[in-house]
Amino acid sequence: APRAGIVVTGTEVLTGRVSDANGPWLAEELRTAGVDVGRIVVVGDRPDDLVAAIRSLADCDLVITSGGLGPTADDLTTQVVADLRGRGLRLDEELHDRVRTLVETLSAQRGWDGTGDDMAAGIRKQALVPEGAAWLEPVGTAPGLVVPGDADGPPVVVLPGPPRELQPMWADAARHPLVARALAGATELRQSTVRLWGPPEAELAGMLRQLETERPGALDDLEVTTCLRDGELEVVTRHDPAAQPAADALTAALTDRFGGAVFAPDGRTVDEVVAALLLDAGATVATAESCTAGLLAGRLADLPGSSAYLTGGVVAYANQVKTAQVGVPAETIERVGAVSEEVAVALARGVRERLGTTYGVGVTGVAGPGGGTEEKPVGLVHVCVSGPDGDVPRRLRIHGGRDHVRRRTVVTCLHLLRE
Ligand code: ATP
Ligand code: MG
Repeated sequence: APRAGIVVTGTEVLTGRVSDANGPWLAEELRTAGVDVGRIVVVGDRPDDLVAAIRSLADCDLVITSGGLGPTADDLTTQVVADLRGRGLRLDEELHDRVRTLVETLSAQRGWDGTGDDMAAGIRKQALVPEGAAWLEPVGTAPGLVVPGDADGPPVVVLPGPPRELQPMWADAARHPLVARALAGATELRQSTVRLWGPPEAELAGMLRQLETERPGALDDLEVTTCLRDGELEVVTRHDPAAQPAADALTAALTDRFGGAVFAPDGRTVDEVVAALLLDAGATVATAESCTAGLLAGRLADLPGSSAYLTGGVVAYANQVKTAQVGVPAETIERVGAVSEEVAVALARGVRERLGTTYGVGVTGVAGPGGGTEEKPVGLVHVCVSGPDGDVPRRLRIHGGRDHVRRRTVVTCLHLLRE
């Protein structure tokens, strides 16, 4: 398969002030199209590093860069790529007019007079194109470039940094004959995802090893990656369309081995599974959340159309809210403490009754980092789903920081709702 390398530029990305949305997005696009992507190189706004990064990808059939196309002096990608491929820069008159119009329109909208010398210089800079290169229609103000390769390395596609500009422009670039030629021979791959809740990653690895022993070659035509995320196991399989039977056999083997733990053989997220179940049943849900303080309700509202099943919720953080708004007896809190199964059950029942929903979910726990005791350590969370068939309480011990404890609690509640 053809291979592409990606260079992501920007000191803000290098230092993590902005997290890289472009490298992974491009890699996913390319891999789905059957192009092999082995490396994403991230560099700051220093020309030497950009040169080294592009050189390091000389063994690829195509290099794609993101960022550094702006009008300011720290935006150097065009110059660096032109130098590397031994091409001078020329001012493209058509592009110059295009960028000028775009910039003037934008400035006018902000009430700024777009005729200063600095602005004119910036506009000129963005209209410079390496000799022999093609430019791609700007989405924002910066055009992209397709620069031909030479003996030193493959063609380079130069794209702007903002993801909302880069994404549509990549679609444009992929159609350019030079790019199409560089990536010729790629066959579009299929991808399927199976999601599991419960089994640890080691058991999944063991199961895959066993499958290979029992049926040699079963996984040969599949690229299988497994990933543990928020306690869910995700098995992603990429393959040539011809290997569809092998992929289906893997899904069947996973379901055989792990049964109900496979909650989405079709790759849906738990949010989607829960939404479909509630919709199908015409059921509604309300939450009473102490340590997650509304995170669960927020998550239930993530999908469009959620008003059909999410009725509402109470942020029952303080004990007096648990009592006054959800009806948890003050006596219970006093006797067993706020973080207890009894309180989780009372929250779930109380909010279900007060909001008149099919299901009520109660959450109470110690999110940390402070507030833990020997008896009730940080990460101890009691949750409960109350429904027509009674209460399903669950005691959780979640290890990790505050953020992790709260997020994992939310995911666990979604799975309880699903079950
Ligand atoms: P322009 O300056 O014309 O917008 P540019 O190509 O110069 O385009 P940059 O200056 O590198 O782009 O980045 C502009 C903004 O785009 C950054 O401040 C950042 O918010 C966002 N951005 C850049 N690179 C990335 C990336 N890899 N992932 C996510 N966001 C990015
Ligand atoms: Mg920049």
